Amino acid sequence: MILCGFAGNGLSQESREALDEWNAEVLDFTGDDYAYWQALCKRWGSLEPLLVMEQDHILTPKILASFACCREDWCCFSYKYAAPRHIIPLPDASGSTDWAAKAVTVFRQKANTAAEKFVILGGLGCTRFSAGLQRRIGSLDSSARILWDVVDNTLFPVLKAAGYAPHDHGQIPHEHKTFDLCLHPPGDAGTVEWHYVGYPTRYKVGPDWWRDE
Ligand SMILES: [Zn+2]
Repeated sequence: MILCGFAGNGLSQESREALDEWNAEVLDFTGDDYAYWQALCKRWGSLEPLLVMEQDHILTPKILASFACCREDWCCFSYKYAAPRHIIPLPDASGSTDWAAKAVTVFRQKANTAAEKFVILGGLGCTRFSAGLQRRIGSLDSSARILWDVVDNTLFPVLKAAGYAPHDHGQIPHEHKTFDLCLHPPGDAGTVEWHYVGYPTRYKVGPDWWRDE
């Protein structure tokens, strides 16, 4: 079983076509921060391997072949952290986005630095769990309210505690940076909120984060 969830306009045409070719289940999580975890819980524990792809990766025959001939239980391609494709400032009370010039630059710089620096192994960008692993872990708690962006961080320690480690299948490019985020105008004390397009949760950063000293 191949599962891919996406939100907003995050699924590229190329990703979609590759997923369709392999009969993946493609789910639209737009507007629901908790749908990813629930979808995973629902499919976890079947009698077949579960392959999870995220919207900004391309499923290729090479990936499938690499997983198919591996006897490990928790198989992952690693990838660099992605920087957002677009950073969209929202207008302030006067209808202006002039406030945002510096914030967009700083967000972009920090995101690019992180994207260059961090390689993720054990995230859910391109991962295959064996049927045996799912059975041994047992059912996941579908009543838990797990935000979509910490589904991997939630699952990782559970697998580690059960004695599993991610099996590295090499690095795949993370070129399809198909997520966008919106910056909200500064609130009291200069804090800026932002959210991923397609997901309602807002994150907050203080003025010391987004303004240059
Ligand atoms: Zn493997």
